[in-house]
Amino acid sequence: MNKQQEWRKILGQHFCEACNSSIHNLVKIGLSIPIPLEYLKTPEGTEYFLCPNCMLRLITCSLSKNQVKNLLENGHTRKEFYLHHDFYDDIGISLQPLI
Ligand SMILES: [Zn+2]
Repeated sequence: MNKQQEWRKILGQHFCEACNSSIHNLVKIGLSIPIPLEYLKTPEGTEYFLCPNCMLRLITCSLSKNQVKNLLENGHTRKEFYLHHDFYDDIGISLQPLI
């Protein structure tokens, strides 16, 4: 866990690390509903805070290029199991999507 992630844990994660969504789309009509976040800790100790959609894509190796980019910008690395080079190429295109 890097510093950025440590602070998020202390302050409370409030947005999805893959799509950066913090509130539901209803904000457009004046309602802001926090999106539910799911938490995953891998056996190697990596922690993910993701919305249900991105969590499903993470564990099925089906993230989009942008989702991979956002995860890397939010402190994750290509050394992590779910972001490994066997699953995504250099620009983040999924090589073995399960869905
Ligand atoms: Zn998301």
